Amino acid sequence: MPEYADIIVDISLEKLDKTFQYRIPRSLQETLQEGMQVIVPFGGGNRTLTGYVTQVTDRCGFDPARIREIIGIAEKGVCLEGQMISLAAWIRRFYGSTMNQALKTVLPVRRKIQEKTRRRLVRTVSEEEAEEFLALFERKHQTARFRLLEALLKQEELDYRLVSEQLHLTAQTVKKLEEMGILRVETDTVWRNPVKKAGAGERPAVLNPEQQAAVRGILSRAGQGDRKPSLIYGVTGSGKTEVYMELIASVLGQGKEAIVLIPEIALTFQTSLRFYRRFGEQVTIVNSRLSEGERYDQMERARKGQVRIVIGPRSALFTPFQNLGIIIIDEEHEGSYKSETVPRYHARETAIQRAQMCGAFVVLGSATPSVESYARALKGDYLLYRLEKRALEKPLPRTEVIDLREELRAGCRSILSRRLRELMEDRLKKGQQTMLFLNRRGYAGFVSCRACGHVLKCPHCDVSMSLHTGGRMVCHYCGYEERTQEACPVCGSSYIGAFRAGTQQVAELVQREFPSARVLRMDLDTTKNKDGHEKILEAFAEGRADILVGTQMIVKGHDFPNVTLVGVLAADLSLYGGDYRASERTFQLLTQAAGRAGRGKEPGIAVIQTYSPDHYSIETAAAQDYPAFFEKETAYRSLMEYPPAAEMMALYLSGTEKEVLEQGAQVLFRAVCRENRDGSIRVIGPADARVARVNDRYRKVIYLKCRDPERLTEMKECLEPRIGESEELRNLSVQFDRNPMNGY
Ligand code: ADP
Ligand code: ZN
Ligand code: ZN
Repeated sequence: MPEYADIIVDISLEKLDKTFQYRIPRSLQETLQEGMQVIVPFGGGNRTLTGYVTQVTDRCGFDPARIREIIGIAEKGVCLEGQMISLAAWIRRFYGSTMNQALKTVLPVRRKIQEKTRRRLVRTVSEEEAEEFLALFERKHQTARFRLLEALLKQEELDYRLVSEQLHLTAQTVKKLEEMGILRVETDTVWRNPVKKAGAGERPAVLNPEQQAAVRGILSRAGQGDRKPSLIYGVTGSGKTEVYMELIASVLGQGKEAIVLIPEIALTFQTSLRFYRRFGEQVTIVNSRLSEGERYDQMERARKGQVRIVIGPRSALFTPFQNLGIIIIDEEHEGSYKSETVPRYHARETAIQRAQMCGAFVVLGSATPSVESYARALKGDYLLYRLEKRALEKPLPRTEVIDLREELRAGCRSILSRRLRELMEDRLKKGQQTMLFLNRRGYAGFVSCRACGHVLKCPHCDVSMSLHTGGRMVCHYCGYEERTQEACPVCGSSYIGAFRAGTQQVAELVQREFPSARVLRMDLDTTKNKDGHEKILEAFAEGRADILVGTQMIVKGHDFPNVTLVGVLAADLSLYGGDYRASERTFQLLTQAAGRAGRGKEPGIAVIQTYSPDHYSIETAAAQDYPAFFEKETAYRSLMEYPPAAEMMALYLSGTEKEVLEQGAQVLFRAVCRENRDGSIRVIGPADARVARVNDRYRKVIYLKCRDPERLTEMKECLEPRIGESEELRNLSVQFDRNPMNGY
């Protein structure tokens, strides 16, 4: 029986880091739980306070003789704050962090921050006048102005931020319309809903049989108290969002509240409006650009029941609803659901945990479900619903795979294949737009043969090795090294080397090949400036450019109806990313990229260029066949014991001195091995991190793999105190990452 409890006595101030330890009286040892509210003696005299239990433990951090006892439990059951605190306790234990870090993640902390003023746009002309201006903008191809006015025609008032971010408009466009007397910019210090007079209660679509089956199935299971999460697998446009809205309506009808997670980049203006139209003032949208003060305000409104649906990215999961009924996670496969700072929690697992605590149910949705979720659904841990048809009859774009090895054989060494160039020329002639996509995400400088496509891989981990200075190739899982070779070990060709291409080189090349084309580039360099991102997208949406060259940034979310050609220049860049998720990421990116072509009336073509046309990830993406991809991918994961076949935990170490870090990594490695007496955990590494040095800090990684997730938690719990006590580790940073997604 744990004898001690850490208690936090004040969660409203900035004192989250302050927990106090008390002894648990024998009479409470069986009942006391994390999250419960208790009464404790505090300070001198007879003063008492109520506090929350953040952790029950065997370890006494103070002189046991001087520790005081808990007086009693303040309230039976666990209230909202208590639930959030026990959620924090779960996060701490499962992912690894301090309790303070976990509490800060789940509890919005009040700070005295100056309230930012909000601006909103108000239409000042009548509907008829607006229609006239609209026609004028259309004639003049002023599409940014058109988009803005079109939105204002539907809603008289709009939040400035919502409009500028999601309609890809610059300040100039707004200013222009203001000068023309079409709108007025108003400033507000009080909070208002981003969309006013949204005509809430708009009649919902009549669901098709597949959608109905999903809604009925999910609701009746939930009604029976079945708390299994549901996974809706349906292509883009199959009507998942309509299903979500129907579920939310039902939950609201029961007097409960809803949280909808949508990756920021995928939350378009159209989607936001759809929610506002249906649910009006009850909806609020949060994003990561909110200041802490704004976030706190939003959270307070949710707590008080002034809003009942919150839509937002990962952190919206912690909205303090008193009576939460449903958590929906759209695009559940997205990497942005995983936190990249400690605690490195994943919103999907954490949502399931939160839902369990308060009796809510979880619905996941995706066109390309994560391998983990789909595997769980097939196993019956999640309930699976399929939406196979597109709700509106729009054909999926056609895909063509171009074998770059063939290009080389035919003497074409350009990054643009002959076929892609021909199609680009055609689009230019027709005045249609092209997007060229160079995926450098997770790109680790793999080495491959351009004649036969062979990629050099680690013999132990079956992931591609990365090129380092001095002609070394390194595996970022196990640290295995080899010298780079002069000739391809398979075909003997000397066209072997690292794949090098940046968006800038591509943009320059495209400009040389098509001197009359207007070429835009979008990547981290060109979007560094404020508004840089919006400016580029606006210009492209306006038709002020014919060709947009970019990184994965251009693939997600945005709708450009005039784009009829998408070129993926080198699908291999993401395919050989040096980690076990590379194939999955490639499948998702290719599917999304293909989806960019042909959003409008014209059917589109997606061209996928690759040296590995027969890699399953590319074949199945081109055929838009997720189940086939899944089957191949799970076979690989089982063979190599990667998730979901096994659970993984990464230990990230960093420090300013290389030798100290190397020594520390060895100490930690040995500590792991000592604790792994039964051998149930596979220990891999230590290896240099993918990015071996950041901000003058050297970085190393150790990976643990195990079929039993709880065993990894135990290992972590056991290592944590050692790290604090160890001479060699104390001055290093050591972090845990459970089922890492985004690499280190
Ligand atoms: P997803 O979320 O799967 O991408 P959406 O819910 O956005 O799909 O639906 C795609 C389009 O089809 C939207 O314009 C939506 O309004 C429309 N739609 C969806 N379901 C229906 C339906 N049952 N009847 C009519 N239109 C529908
Ligand atoms: Zn070769
Ligand atoms: Zn390896």
